[in-house]
Amino acid sequence: METPASPVEKTGVDDVEKVRCLIIGSGPAGCTAAIYASRANLAPVLYEGLQPGGQLTTTTEVENFPGYPDGITGPEIMEGLKKQAIRFGADFRWGEATAVDFSKRPFTVTIDDHKVIWADTVIISTGATAKYLGIPDEKRLAGAGVSACATCDGFFFRGKDVAVVGGGDTATEEAVYLSNFCNKVYLIVRRDEMRASKVMRDRVMKMENVQILWEHQTKALLGDKLLEGAILVYRKGTLDEKEVTIKIDGFFLAIGHKPNSGVFKEYIETDEVGYIKTIPGTTKTNIPGVFACGDVQDKVYRQAVTAAGTGCMAAIEVERFLTEQES
Ligand code: NAP
Repeated sequence: METPASPVEKTGVDDVEKVRCLIIGSGPAGCTAAIYASRANLAPVLYEGLQPGGQLTTTTEVENFPGYPDGITGPEIMEGLKKQAIRFGADFRWGEATAVDFSKRPFTVTIDDHKVIWADTVIISTGATAKYLGIPDEKRLAGAGVSACATCDGFFFRGKDVAVVGGGDTATEEAVYLSNFCNKVYLIVRRDEMRASKVMRDRVMKMENVQILWEHQTKALLGDKLLEGAILVYRKGTLDEKEVTIKIDGFFLAIGHKPNSGVFKEYIETDEVGYIKTIPGTTKTNIPGVFACGDVQDKVYRQAVTAAGTGCMAAIEVERFLTEQES
């Protein structure tokens, strides 16, 4: 096997490093891109971002990742993917992309406001981040009862009453998870139906200590130093409208995610929500040489396995792009 070219080249500028393939983000998409890019001798450098391992590190059991008939935990998948990429020479580093200049190649990417990378190609795999409701006191009580990840923080609410907001797969999954060790779980759903898959809807409805509060919206959170309760509004804007107060120690947000594309938006086309637009059937963005994979460009499937699949595509497309440029 040919020895990969050193990713570090002299650039004539202090503290500037030149790499052939820079990967930004370390979820299943970024790690899979790193496996393929390193096996293709592209000596990829990967910056892990604010949440190394991505969203899977905040889940417990994953039952639908192919190849694991008995299930596997999210952190185990990520540990395996990272190890596999490092085995082939991928260079994993702590740090977050804080600025980019994609106006010309090599592209310039600034890490943590000071370190500068010149990259022949960039793979964006920055994923998506949990959304908050935007109500008063939500951020003030974050870490004091309010959380966007039941699987990370649920443990602290053993034997207590808690609430989960949302009606999707995440909310139902988190409500089921919490019901295993919390006293009572309220599931606050804003409509009279849930968008979660049938299997998850059925599962949550079977849990005896889960109470679904249909057509309720959260108006305010109560508590000084720690969360003590929430004020909900039933059937807001109708004749039946009324306020309901619940006593809870934990309040878990599960209302979806926002794609982490802000730092690229000056150059990279996104849709109105912020999902990066790619040419259908590829991971190519509007800038030749910049590719996007995983949840930052996927508002439809958003699965670990589809993220990994698009990570593979991105690395293959980088290899083809560089071959074309260099021949
Ligand atoms: P989602 O499907 O977008 O659902 C978000 C939920 O939050 C919806 O019920 C939505 O209500 C509600 N919501 C949004 N804004 C709200 C607000 N301001 N106040 C109250 N409720 C609000 O998000 P998700 O559940 O995180 O799932 C994302 C994707 O990941 C989906 O494709 C899902 O299938 C997938 N996923 C899969 C698994 C699995 O396979 N094991 C697990 C988790 C997630 P409306 O319905 O009224 O809009």
